[in-house]
Amino acid sequence: MIGYGAKSLPYGGWFSIPPVAGNGWMLIGDAAGFLNSRRLKGIHLAIKSGMLAAETAYDAMSKNDFSSAALGGFQSRVETSWIKDELWQVRNFHQGFEHGFWHGMFHAALQQITGGRGMHARYSASAGHRRLKKLEQLEQAGGGRSNIVGWAKGDGRLTFDKLTDLYHSGTKHEEDQPVHLVIHDTNICNTRCIREFGNPCQFFCPANVYEMVEASDVPGGKEIHVNASNCVHCKTCDIMDPYEIITWVPPEGGGGPNYEGM
Ligand code: SF4
Repeated sequence: MIGYGAKSLPYGGWFSIPPVAGNGWMLIGDAAGFLNSRRLKGIHLAIKSGMLAAETAYDAMSKNDFSSAALGGFQSRVETSWIKDELWQVRNFHQGFEHGFWHGMFHAALQQITGGRGMHARYSASAGHRRLKKLEQLEQAGGGRSNIVGWAKGDGRLTFDKLTDLYHSGTKHEEDQPVHLVIHDTNICNTRCIREFGNPCQFFCPANVYEMVEASDVPGGKEIHVNASNCVHCKTCDIMDPYEIITWVPPEGGGGPNYEGM
């Protein structure tokens, strides 16, 4: 291994893009969801949206007006640029894979010859965390997928345990800074999630940030512990937590993974 990192991809498509400007703010790049899900490319869209945001910011600064009315021009700039043209062509792409690979290939081909439409003007979609299965719906011990669930150790040659992986991300944060993974109600983790979902954050977090440790006040119980300084900023927890109680905020002082050569 020469490096390790993780990043969640905002591939929901055009219909999942939120408002991109408001009172004093604009969203660009991945923050807005500007990703071509068919090509898995977004850097060009990030650059273009940054240029359009800069033009909007220039206008706002010359009028000294940063209201949503003034910055709202960014929304129309995006919609009249090639960002919309490109993303409109792939607006239903990811949703076409809802029922698996072969369905997806069929829809992808159909969408390609119908300008991105496919079978429906807008395919249905739901947030990823709504697809998490509860423990009672899973096979005992992971069934045929037991090699990828739980505490996988890897073979030590090509695949490794998470802490070894993490070391290769070079991530670092000030240890005494405020925790940047805000769990709004840890009671839900300690009492409800542990029963219903088995605290999946322990498994989908690629950096061992979330750990269930022995509870200090409940004999035999467990409680969530957050190793925030391990975080590699992939943002999976913010998206996949089944109760939507985790909020990722930028850490202090520019800490984070050190992706050399990426
Ligand atoms: Fe990714 Fe969240 Fe884990 Fe950080 S804490 S590495 S953002 S899943």
